[in-house]
Parts: sequence; structure tokens; C-alpha cells
Amino acid sequence: MTRNLSILGATGSIGRNTLRIVDRFPNRFSVKALSARSNMTLLADQIERYRPVRVAVGDERCADDLSALLPTDLAVDIVWGESGLCRIAALDDVDLVVTAVVGAAGLLPTLAAIDAGKDIALANKETLVMAGQAVMKRADAEGVRIYPVDSEHSAIFQCLAGNRKTDVDRILLTGSGGPFRAMPLEEFESISIDDALNHPNWQMGRKITIDSASMMNKGLEIIEARWLFDVPLDMIQVVIHPQSIVHSMVAFKDGSVIAQLGVPDMKGAIACALSWPERMDIGQPAPDFPALHQLTFEAPDLEKFPCLRLAMEACAAAGTMPAVLNAANEMAVVAFLDGKIGFTAISELIGMVMENHRWVVHPSLEEIIAADTWARRESERWMKS
Ligand code: NDP
Ligand code: MG
Repeated sequence: MTRNLSILGATGSIGRNTLRIVDRFPNRFSVKALSARSNMTLLADQIERYRPVRVAVGDERCADDLSALLPTDLAVDIVWGESGLCRIAALDDVDLVVTAVVGAAGLLPTLAAIDAGKDIALANKETLVMAGQAVMKRADAEGVRIYPVDSEHSAIFQCLAGNRKTDVDRILLTGSGGPFRAMPLEEFESISIDDALNHPNWQMGRKITIDSASMMNKGLEIIEARWLFDVPLDMIQVVIHPQSIVHSMVAFKDGSVIAQLGVPDMKGAIACALSWPERMDIGQPAPDFPALHQLTFEAPDLEKFPCLRLAMEACAAAGTMPAVLNAANEMAVVAFLDGKIGFTAISELIGMVMENHRWVVHPSLEEIIAADTWARRESERWMKS
């Protein structure tokens, strides 16, 4: 049976990898909708190739640019903005929505997809960081399945399959430690944009690459796991594993540990989300173990990576705090990539914004969005001063 896809963030790293899998299985998947914010040239190529019925773009000007790039006889409905993204997330024919936009922009379209009863392949971790409890509750109520695309969460999902949740002792969330794992703290002041964009194991979009360098990514993933698997913070342990072969593990009450392993390439986790419980032959070989020589594990260094500690604090506080952490982090990452603040200022900014936040314990969705808006303004104020 053909699965009809809507891919939000089709021009990004996850979006393009998703389309590579579609290329391999043209009879299994049909692309009904795509979105891009600004890369109209690539989106125009994708439209010609996959023939979606509707696409969403950043704004009206992008829509005009896109129309000009497309052959006049090609029929595609072009919508834009947040409402456009929500419309392609809820499109009638679609069975599975791949949420691969970056940042807080993923939240409302994901909710729109859930409300329309679509299953979700979730890459946009910020959705669960901001509003994990509300999103999971709504998915449950609508009978919607959320398949994780984040490699760690895909691994945990696979390790849990066939096991009883009551038998779980701990989730062991692995992370490579990023490019600065072995760098002495004294040298962090001199980290350049290029240094931070140079991830040792993974090819990803710019925002998540900076998050990986600061280890905020692992922090966001703790919060993502907390809601996705409904486990308390004290059952989630971060383990640094520089080779990125063990994508994560689950420890059970009897001391037994199940791990999921694979080469560090997101196509494995994406394919799993697209076809679970079936496994597709995506042409990706298993790791060559003799050539690997060794897999190593160590504890994270919270002094060197304060972002990880801040995310744990936000996870423990819950309520609006994770949304504030996320918004301040998004602002800090943009400012760092624009050369406006240094690497160590990322955690300073987030810490300051969290400290000033008047946190709401049981927020509505509106209060979560208001906290996000407040944190962005507060971040700007901090940067100006
Ligand atoms: P990219 O930056 O490569 O791609 C982001 C995509 O979203 C692009 O299509 C971009 O459009 C679009 N986009 C960006 N901002 C907005 C916005 N405000 N509104 C609507 N669309 C927008 O990101 P990645 O693919 O790396 O990451 C996507 C998500 O997946 C993130 O949440 C990330 O944390 C998560 N993830 C990514 C992994 C990876 O390996 N890349 C691994 C695990 C999780 P355009 O380029 O046209 O402007
Ligand atoms: Mg990950």
C-alpha cells in the first residue's frame, strides 16, 4: 500500500534525506505536500520531481518567486506562512506527516497534523521540548502514532518494542559529546563559528549542529525523551559515546541492557519512522565491527557544557520553563551564527533568561506560546545590554 507523505522542511537535512528514501521506494511512498521557508530553487526542483498537490513556503514573496520558477502547466497549490504550514500538515490525502522544520515553528503544524488524525514522523524535537505533555496527550486522544526520527529516540523506541514499560529501569541516552568534548574549558572562549559547525560524526542543519557543540542538543533530547516515553527525568541518563554507533540504550530491572546500533547516518532512523514495524532495505550496511576497534563511554561534563545542566533544570521545573529554555537557545544560536555573541555566551544568555522567567507550572498552550515570545524579547534585551 502506498503511504502518502507531507514533508515539512523538505529542503533541510532531514527533509532531503527523507526524499532519498522515497527515491528508493517510489511505489511505497507518494509525496502529497512539501514545505520550505526560503530555498525556492530547491523546492521548485522537488515539486517537478515529486509532483505534490500543495506546498507551503515562508511568505507571499517566496510564493511569487516559486511560481516564477515553475513551468506554467504544472498545477500545484502554493500556500504560505504559519497557516500554510498547518494546512499542508492536515491535508486530506496524507497518512504520515514528517515534521522536519527547525525550531519552535514546528509546534503548531504538528498539533494541526494531530488534530487531523495524521501519524507523525517527528524530527522537530523543539515541539516536544516546548509542549511535550500537551502534544502527547492530544496524540493519545486522537489515536495518532508519533514515530521518532531523532536517532536516539528512534533507538529507544526500537529497544522498548516488545518490552513492558514497567520493567524499564533507565533510559541511556547516548551523545557523541560534539567537537569540543576533549577541549579544555579555558579554550572555549576562542571557539569560532566554523569550529562549532564542524561536527565530528553527523551532517546536519546549522542550528542542531551548534546545539550539538554546546550539548544543548542532548539537553533538548532529555526533555524530548521525557515526554515521548513518559519517563521521569531521574530515569534518563546521558552517556557520552564519541563513536556515535550506539544510538541509545534501555536498561531493564534485571540489569539487562538493550542497545540499538548503526552507522551515524539519519537515513536509518528516518526509514524506521516511515515503515515501522517493517524494515526497508535502504542500502545502508551495518557497522563494520572489526574496523571500529573500540566503542567507548564516559560521563558528560556539566561544568564544560552548562547548556546540558540548564536543560535538566528546565526539564525538572517543567511548565513553561522548557519553552523558555528553547526560545532563548534559538535566539542565542542565531546570534552566535551571526557573530554577535561568543560561544560561551550561549549558556550565559539562556541561564539569565531562565532566571528572570516567571514560570507557570500548568500552562495552557497559549501560555506556552506567550512564554516563548517573552523569552525571545528577554534574550534581545540581554544581548543589547
Ligand atoms: P535544516 O536547517 O537543515 O532544515 C530546516 C528546514 O525547515 C528547511 O526546509 C527550512 O527551509 C525549514 N525552515 C527553517 N525555519 C523555518 C521556519 N521558521 N518556518 C518554516 N520552515 C522553516 O534542519 P535539520 O533538517 O537539520 O533539522 C530539522 C529538525 O530535525 C530540527 O528540529 C532538528 O533538531 C531535528 N533533527 C535533525 C537531525 C539532523 O540530522 N539534521 C537529527 C535529529 C533531529 P529553507 O531551508 O527552505 O529555508
Ligand atoms: Mg539526536
